[in-house]
Amino acid sequence: MPFQSLGLMPELVRALSDKGYTEPTAIQSQAIPAILNGEDVLGGAQTGTGKTAAFTLPILQRLAEHPNPKAKGPRVLILVPTRELAVQVHASIREYGKHIRLRTAVMYGGASMNPQMMALGKGLDILVATPGRLIDHLERGTAQLHRVETLILDEADRMLDMGFLPAIKKILNQVPKQRQTLLFSATFDAPIKQLALQFMRNPIEVQVSSQNTVAHTVNHIAHPVDPGKKRELLMHILSERYQEQILVFVKTKHLCNRIAEQITKDGIPALAIHGNKSQGQRLKALSDFKAGNVRVLCATDVAARGLDIPLLPLVINFDMPMVAEDYVHRIGRTGRAGANGDAVSLVATDEGGLLRAVNRLLKQDIVLESKPGFEPTTTMRMDLTPPRGKPSGHQAPRRKPAQPGHLKSHGMASQKPKSSSPGGSPRGRQRSPQR
Ligand code: AMP
Repeated sequence: MPFQSLGLMPELVRALSDKGYTEPTAIQSQAIPAILNGEDVLGGAQTGTGKTAAFTLPILQRLAEHPNPKAKGPRVLILVPTRELAVQVHASIREYGKHIRLRTAVMYGGASMNPQMMALGKGLDILVATPGRLIDHLERGTAQLHRVETLILDEADRMLDMGFLPAIKKILNQVPKQRQTLLFSATFDAPIKQLALQFMRNPIEVQVSSQNTVAHTVNHIAHPVDPGKKRELLMHILSERYQEQILVFVKTKHLCNRIAEQITKDGIPALAIHGNKSQGQRLKALSDFKAGNVRVLCATDVAARGLDIPLLPLVINFDMPMVAEDYVHRIGRTGRAGANGDAVSLVATDEGGLLRAVNRLLKQDIVLESKPGFEPTTTMRMDLTPPRGKPSGHQAPRRKPAQPGHLKSHGMASQKPKSSSPGGSPRGRQRSPQR
């Protein structure tokens, strides 16, 4: 079904075809008509499903159809959990809206207040903000929300995980009651449902990806290897796939830096992205990677969540994730929107238990295949699952037991899930401070 048949205006369809997008994804087919129609929408969708465009396209159209160049405060407010996501959502708005005249701004913590204040002062159509920074502006009186017509909470579960609930409530109390509200979340635990019940009007529910699903276009393979040989094997794979851009997941910040440095020393430009890097460094690394200036991006799990790196052909797990669900988040960066992708895991002989946990979650056995020249000298110990919460030598990430998953393209579950429970999530997630 082409984009036109969803009711999108030619300016938007043109911007989409400039990007090479011809068909809407499932979340787009479901959400766009409802949002165009002014409905509140509760969207169950993870990164990688095309959810950003699902809310961006119809709000751009609504603004374009009813321009108000004199409006001072933002007419659309988009709240996101992290500065990276703020930058990405804003960039998407600029791209999809390139044939439409609109005033937009993005604001997040850690950046100077002044340019943000100037943007707010000039008047705005769309504001993308992290809750903490928006509260700073509200308290200084430099932001006003009484013109907001549409409020969007993107990755609402992550915002709550990060402790933004009080800030979100404060913000919700300052936007007009008569408005459209859109809430997107990968999971729908009680606090999210409560938020939706309290602040939305008869929302239409759309759900495309149940938890722990991965695209069926991803090929999974695991190479058993002696722990001391991993780096060599990584270099071997990088040189085999010399034409491609590759994301490498590493378990700690320290190792992440070291691997990126070593790869670079070995002649392949690489950068590291993790929680210890400044915001500037992270954004620069991401844009260098996107621009193709570096071929390899090494990342820790926390730093990489939500990053918009389209159409990666290959994701390498240098280390198996300590938490099986992270495998799904990691490889969510490949095999997107119908493209093929490879997920290659280097599994040390003492990481067999972690591989088994991933197999259990995916409900499939990832093919375990030695790379010639890198055959391990010891047997893979599949029985050695570190007790939950007590992985040896690591600080424990704590979470509830994994829910079973299945393999499907984007999930594409159904039009409307049972209203009460589009899927629970592992909560109480706590990370190793190392990451
Ligand atoms: P998101 O779920 O918003 O993070 O989007 C995932 C990726 O899919 C982004 O790189 C988008 O640019 C891309 N994308 C969004 N919509 C489409 C589409 N209709 N066709 C192909 N790719 C898309």
